[in-house]
Amino acid sequence: MTHDEFVAYIRERYATLFDPTNSDEVWRYLITIGPGWWPLFTDFCEQMEGVLRHHDKTGRWYIRQVKEKFGELRIYVRPAPYERPDVDGFMEWVDDIDPPEPTHVEEMLGIIKQQVTGRAAHVCEDCGEPGELRVLDGWYSTCCDRHFEEWKARKASRKS
Ligand SMILES: [Zn+2]
Repeated sequence: MTHDEFVAYIRERYATLFDPTNSDEVWRYLITIGPGWWPLFTDFCEQMEGVLRHHDKTGRWYIRQVKEKFGELRIYVRPAPYERPDVDGFMEWVDDIDPPEPTHVEEMLGIIKQQVTGRAAHVCEDCGEPGELRVLDGWYSTCCDRHFEEWKARKASRKS
């Protein structure tokens, strides 16, 4: 499965978890994680869908962005009616933008997010094998031994 195919699958299978007004351009940058983490994110979507359905909140919360940052899986979820006309879809959603009030659903979403991102810390983003956080020349990546070696080799070849 290519990255585009994975994104298309998520977009269709979990349509209620994303803002229907997202343009194709927004979708192009919405999910940027490597294939090793795809099953974890799919699992998150499955759980989030269940939580929203159970609490009759389907369509009230949207996933805004899924990315790797400092080697960690980051999933940004926001309440659906939340709109800021002064920012565009590519902006990284900062954590000081809070929804009006914490709710039980928000707590549940926070818990499943922590579980999934916690698991990602031990899974290679490239291949899904067991991995851990590595640092190379100030760059961070969660990867397995093999992909760490490949990463180092790529770095070395660029320097020579
Ligand atoms: Zn790997």
